[in-house]
Amino acid sequence: MTVHAHPDDESSKGAGTVALYSAMGYRSVLVCATGGEEGDIINPVMDVDEVRADLAKVRAQELSEATSIIGYTDVEMLGYRDSGMPDSEANSRPEAFWNVDVEDSSRKLVSLIRHYRPDVLITYGEDQSRYPHPDHLRVHDISVMAFNYAADPDYHPELGTAHAVSKLYYSLWAAKRVTALHQRFVEVGLESPFTEEVLAREGQDSLITTSIDVGAYIDRRLKALLAHRTQIEPDSKWWFGLDADDQRIAYPYEDFQLARTRIPDYEPVMETDLFAGLP
Ligand SMILES: [Zn+2]
Repeated sequence: MTVHAHPDDESSKGAGTVALYSAMGYRSVLVCATGGEEGDIINPVMDVDEVRADLAKVRAQELSEATSIIGYTDVEMLGYRDSGMPDSEANSRPEAFWNVDVEDSSRKLVSLIRHYRPDVLITYGEDQSRYPHPDHLRVHDISVMAFNYAADPDYHPELGTAHAVSKLYYSLWAAKRVTALHQRFVEVGLESPFTEEVLAREGQDSLITTSIDVGAYIDRRLKALLAHRTQIEPDSKWWFGLDADDQRIAYPYEDFQLARTRIPDYEPVMETDLFAGLP
């Protein structure tokens, strides 16, 4: 089970990993907190009246297309409104995810965890200084709360039989990945979209416990990103400047931090499998 904030986050963070496990026959559930109503329309081709009139509907269609490309077996919307950025009008709306009582929103996730009973839960980490969107911060909060509460049989038993998720992962942003992609741009003679400033950013490399080789699924990740037509420009060099083959040659991994585990005596040593240590 993965928990994300907006439609498109599931395609930009860890999509290759879900595609890989889905192809191996694992059930995969996306929990998406909001409809992404406040997203800017990045792609000028899509910035037209009928899209602007009902962005939530268009983004729901994009999400449906992207999740079937990735291979998600189930998609659950928590049904909150995109909170937008701090100090925006959207951020003050009562139905915005950020303004909903965190006990209430985590309870919805508890009920999904008890229903689907995942072994692994993937969410965002506590350090989101790079992109501190209120909805992303809140996704982290409810995920950690629900990881704890879902396992407690005394916590709201009416939400289903308690379930202890075995592993909680945070998706990470690795600087070494950006460096490797930049080098590949240079090697193949293309202009790199990664500026000195981007390349100098501190990554979360020191937190990596788990690197999943998704080389065979980068193509699907790119197709899923492209399905989010309003959010991603198809000629973005950042996302699509290198094709799947070159991305695989440069850096075929998606990186995670094993934040919590309930597997007794389990010592992760550079995991290459999210399900390592499980029976
Ligand atoms: Zn987002």
